[in-house]
Amino acid sequence: MKRIAFILTALLLTAALAPGAFAAAESKPLAGKIIGLDPGHQIKANRTKEPIGPGSKTLKNSVSSGTRGVISRTWEHEINLAVALKLRKLLEDAGAAVVMTRETADVDVPNSERAKLMNEAGADLVLRIHCNGNSKERVHGTSMLVPSGKYCGAIEEESAKAGKAILAAFIAATGSKDEGLRKRSDQTGFNWSTVPVCNIEMGYMTNEATDKLLNTEEYQDICARALCEGIAEYFRL
Ligand SMILES: [Zn+2]
Repeated sequence: MKRIAFILTALLLTAALAPGAFAAAESKPLAGKIIGLDPGHQIKANRTKEPIGPGSKTLKNSVSSGTRGVISRTWEHEINLAVALKLRKLLEDAGAAVVMTRETADVDVPNSERAKLMNEAGADLVLRIHCNGNSKERVHGTSMLVPSGKYCGAIEEESAKAGKAILAAFIAATGSKDEGLRKRSDQTGFNWSTVPVCNIEMGYMTNEATDKLLNTEEYQDICARALCEGIAEYFRL
């Protein structure tokens, strides 16, 4: 009889606790994860050359200036940061610890440094946030750059997996044209990374309609929510 009472109590306790525990896990799907966010570019380009990977003889500018809105004349670095700050809040609400490469425009952080900062932070995943540009105004859509090549062997697979999940969530939420995953071996921010990393090109600021959208708070919110959802989805895989 005692035993039955014990089992009943245990069952009741489980029933009472389970919904709460389940809800907590659901509302904090990123608990324990360290997410790195790198809002691309900064107020001023840094044309000091740096190797594109450890020991590489190929050199590139430390930070390029990025693209610019064809109508708005907003610089890319501003949109990237606006979305990144919104995304940080959502990721923290989901339980993640977020590390940023920059929180303002007026910084000077070379791309290799950005990668090293994330390596040192032990990030589980790094998302580099960018917008695209093209000489043809009509070109529009969203792509995801993922690491490839001799410096990135160890992180290629996980990075591509994350990139795919995040891009899918972004396309679903925004209705942007899917330009797919693009493997890149020339990205300093990838080649110095020892942790999974991918780079969203949210849209072309050289396209009038996209430029207008990217400059609205509402669309930036949609982008941030989609990126958060995509990141959470990657960790569910
Ligand atoms: Zn960029």
